[in-house]
Amino acid sequence: MNMSVMCRLFPLMAGILLLTGCTKSPSETATRDLFAMDTYMTMKVTAPGAEMLLTEAADRIGSLEETLSVTLPDSDVARINAADGAPVTVSADTAVILQKALDIGDTSGGALDITLYPVLRTWGFTTDEMHVPDQETITDLLQHVDHSQVELSGNAVRLPENMQLDLGALAKGYTGDAVMQLFRNGGAASAIISLGGNVQTLGSRPDGTPWQVGVTDPFSPSETMCILSVEDKAVITSGNYERYFTDENGSRWWHILDPADGYPADNGLVSVTVVGEEGLYCDALSTALFVEGTEQAQIHWRQAQDFEMLLVTEDGRILLTEGLSDCFTNCSSYPVEVITRA
Ligand code: AMP
Ligand code: MG
Repeated sequence: MNMSVMCRLFPLMAGILLLTGCTKSPSETATRDLFAMDTYMTMKVTAPGAEMLLTEAADRIGSLEETLSVTLPDSDVARINAADGAPVTVSADTAVILQKALDIGDTSGGALDITLYPVLRTWGFTTDEMHVPDQETITDLLQHVDHSQVELSGNAVRLPENMQLDLGALAKGYTGDAVMQLFRNGGAASAIISLGGNVQTLGSRPDGTPWQVGVTDPFSPSETMCILSVEDKAVITSGNYERYFTDENGSRWWHILDPADGYPADNGLVSVTVVGEEGLYCDALSTALFVEGTEQAQIHWRQAQDFEMLLVTEDGRILLTEGLSDCFTNCSSYPVEVITRA
């Protein structure tokens, strides 16, 4: 089968692959779909007792949602937000995510800022009542956005009064890591999960060939733009097509905001895909790099040395870091440029 046919068939094949049930070999392969964290999720694992592992994974996802959701009143995040400046003890999961969020907040120069939540809420991105807020409201709310004021010491978190936070930019990456850990502990050699735009893989496909992960075309989200051939990697995308609305003047506004001005980040990119070992890191980075934009994202990549990325620019170019060039198949007509270390 030639590549262009493969690209066209890819979404279909992926659907069929994920829908097929058990095949008996030394271990069994099982799949499950679920809806959690406001996202459609699909898991496929090959392991002894695969069905049981999937049930454990679904339970783990459910309990992480209860811990990390900004809207469930007993979650760690909701308790932090309601504490009015008092310290709150959180789970180990929350502490790990918070630490990563603060680290990437620093390394991205504040492009990732979990304390942006009040601004996101006023845009309605957290509730579905999306609208353009007035400038004064944004300016007021931005005065209380500053991730460097979050105090984290072990499992104790303190947020200054009148600040609120949300882990939506990186919670699904952590959730993917937790599921992969559970699969590994259960003896799985091969697994793939998709949590919305986040794909994470364990090992290779059961036949020993690499996983083929489709990256969505941000200009035509029902199409696959390219395929990345990976093993043991997280492939995590942030894009302006995932959650957006169009106002009465026809302007489009999307869910990833620039903490510098409180408006949707508009720094030359329409999507960012990060490939690396850890879902949490890649998820935090995908959002941060989207905000940083075309130039700064490349500077960040050269400094970090521990991830690869694929940027799609608003003028329709694919910029690919050199570590991905061997595992990349273009399914689109967009020109490709390779970003090198030099
Ligand atoms: P992702 O799809 O991983 O890029 O995450 C996007 C989500 O992160 C949004 O829906 C918001 O909840 C949140 N978010 C948006 N902009 C930012 C930002 N600059 N820093 C932190 N979180 C953000
Ligand atoms: Mg993210």
